Amino acid sequence: MSALSDRLDAVRRGISDAAVAAHRSPDDVTTIVVTKFHPASLVRELHDLGVRDFGESRHQEARSKTAELADLTDATWHFIGQLQSKKARQATEYSSVVHSVDRSSLVDALVRAERDIECFIQINLANDSSDDDSSRGGAAPGGVADIAERILSADRLSLRGVMGVAPLGEEPRRAFARLREASESLRMIAPTASEISAGMSGDYREAILEGATHLRIGSAITGNRPPAG
Ligand SMILES: *Cc1c(COP(=O)(O)O)cnc(C)c1O
Repeated sequence: MSALSDRLDAVRRGISDAAVAAHRSPDDVTTIVVTKFHPASLVRELHDLGVRDFGESRHQEARSKTAELADLTDATWHFIGQLQSKKARQATEYSSVVHSVDRSSLVDALVRAERDIECFIQINLANDSSDDDSSRGGAAPGGVADIAERILSADRLSLRGVMGVAPLGEEPRRAFARLREASESLRMIAPTASEISAGMSGDYREAILEGATHLRIGSAITGNRPPAG
């Protein structure tokens, strides 16, 4: 327990230092703790430490974990991974925020949710000089407007902003600068969709400098992930 709370405190301090350096208020930054591959018991410990926003990236795992934790009624589950359209409606049974909306067909599937869902449009931040798999997924910047229009026209969906993962092999701040530009373009058609989901354990400081409002932090808080089971 103490190691976990020490890591959580260290990350919270890092976030508030980075916010101050960016002339921003730490209160404008929401930290989502990514608990993929970790057991429900770790989520419970984090909840006891005051964490309320949790991120998961694999549907099967998230579904069983959230079922086990159904008593944590004040927790918000953010779906942050690649999502198959045929699993989308099921994912909305436990998550109310989807950060990985990257195609119109996924919006069409999310429309069938039985509750209100907040959406971030995931933008592909890979550039020509990087060829790595971690940046796979995400809409091309040119495809964002169409996805946004579809979200805006759906009663049960709200558009929060953009999401991105910095590719390996590039200075993360440059990738996050492109994400900020995508956010500015999006706001021309959706002025209230001003939020930016960016920044993981290794690059959250750079993300905060480029305007991130939602950080998705796993291993820096949870410790190393157990091997995928
Ligand atoms: C796993 C994951 C994270 C967290 O990564 P860490 O490096 O452990 O902080 C953030 N975003 C996405 C999309 C992820 O899959």
